Amino acid sequence: MSKGYDVVVIGAGPGGYIAAIRAAQHGMSVACIDEWKNKDGKNAFGGTWLNAGCIPSKALLESSELYHRARHEFSKHGISTGDVSMDVAKMQRRRAGIVRQLTGGIGGLFRAAKVDGLVGHGKLLSDKKVEFTPVDGDPEIIDSKHVILASGSGPIELPFAKFDGETIIDSWDAIELDAVPARLGVIGAGVIGLELGSVWSRLGSEVTVLEAMEDFLFMADRDVAKVAAADFKKQGLDIRLGAKVTSATVGKTGVRVDYEDKNGAQSIEVDKLIVAVGRRPYTDGLFADDAGIQIDERGFIVVDDECRTRVKGVYAIGDCVRGTMLAHKASEEGTMVADLISGESAEMNYDVIPSVLYTNPEIAWTGKTEEQVKASGRAYKTGTFPFAADGRAKAMEQTSGMVKIISAEDDDEILGVHIVGPMAGELIAEAVLALEFSASTEDLQRTIHAHPSLSEAMHEAALAVDNRALNYPNK
Ligand code: FAD
Ligand code: AMP
Repeated sequence: MSKGYDVVVIGAGPGGYIAAIRAAQHGMSVACIDEWKNKDGKNAFGGTWLNAGCIPSKALLESSELYHRARHEFSKHGISTGDVSMDVAKMQRRRAGIVRQLTGGIGGLFRAAKVDGLVGHGKLLSDKKVEFTPVDGDPEIIDSKHVILASGSGPIELPFAKFDGETIIDSWDAIELDAVPARLGVIGAGVIGLELGSVWSRLGSEVTVLEAMEDFLFMADRDVAKVAAADFKKQGLDIRLGAKVTSATVGKTGVRVDYEDKNGAQSIEVDKLIVAVGRRPYTDGLFADDAGIQIDERGFIVVDDECRTRVKGVYAIGDCVRGTMLAHKASEEGTMVADLISGESAEMNYDVIPSVLYTNPEIAWTGKTEEQVKASGRAYKTGTFPFAADGRAKAMEQTSGMVKIISAEDDDEILGVHIVGPMAGELIAEAVLALEFSASTEDLQRTIHAHPSLSEAMHEAALAVDNRALNYPNK
């Protein structure tokens, strides 16, 4: 049987499913193929994002944060709780329920938008033909005018610490643990390592994070990284920098992790070891040799700024192409590509993609770090405002951290905004909008912010850029 579509999307993660719906909104006939299988053996749309990444990790971060607060912070408000306990199985059922609801939601969105959601494997052949192999059926060939590859990524495995799904585990296994490990090791102090380390630390694990680099959160602004490092230490996360793991051996009493730091060879023993050293693009079986798709030396599908591959009419988006591996980056690329296919003009502003770590304190930024602006040679000014001087933060008992704004000296343009503190992941939206509109610091200064609110810290940081903060002494 041979079917035909205007657009076939391979992958229904946040890149693919958004691209499919957007293309359908343009009046095109669309199919979206996905083969994701959950640990219960059931297929589900949503990719890493929904099944094993952003959403389930945030569900656990919320539960573990509430548990931590109930135990350690409620008493400050005068609330006595007695013994607080955590039912891990119930917490995990809640997480699984959220995932189930949202994955089912994508099926509903597909039906409403008239996208054919096809469950099985998709493979790009030559001439924009796609071989679709349903989960329980024989391959069929689909003709398409346009193809969007959105196959995502998978965890990087270390050759000397291979995943066994039990003791040496990846982030997905770490999300689905059914008990709190007494001693938990994490290799990699990146976003995923810190978020999952935080979850299990709050629930009672003794967590050691081993990070090869000397700089903590090298991609973040240094001032922000400093505050975060101090807070994580206070919370009991043992983050060892300059610690390069060389081997991991599973024994009777746990897993022995060997690493090297400036003092020589070291080792720790833990009950579970999460390897969170980054992700690699996933393109296994995605295209035939003669499909014409080019891969770079790290395995990413080569695309231009508009996500076009070398093959006319074939695009690639999300984690399988260059750029930050983030769900919203994947979705925006999906939107752009669907618009371009429909004939509209569209572009993606890669300079203002927000980054967020959902730790406590949260960390969020957009635009350039101070180090990057300095390196660019452009004269700049900075302003910071601590949450300790923000009334709402005080009321919330969440006063750690600050907002830092970096602006150009010449035309006052805001170049970067960095937040470490309560709800940083929400507050950053204002900064993204400001950068998207090339706002000046004065634009933010003259924007009225509700009182009392955390957003006032953004307002005051903008004022502080010109030494005009009103609720904190200026430099
Ligand atoms: P994916 O979500 O990986 O989806 C790809 C889909 O394609 C999968 O369903 C896969 O099965 C399917 N597929 C692949 N090949 C084929 C084929 N040949 N045929 C059929 N189907 C195929 N990002 C954020 O922005 N915020 C966060 O808070 C965040 N937290 C994260 C936490 C964790 C623990 C992890 C692991 C990731 C997190 N991410 C977060 C990253 C985010 O999940 C990814 O950037 C995002 O999922 C990428 O989207 P995608 O559409 O490119 O790919
Ligand atoms: P991210 O790519 O943000 O998920 O972060 C992964 C982190 O793992 C990076 O900060 C790497 O420096 C770190 N990493 C990679 N390999 C090792 C290793 N062998 N030992 C310790 N840390 C590592």
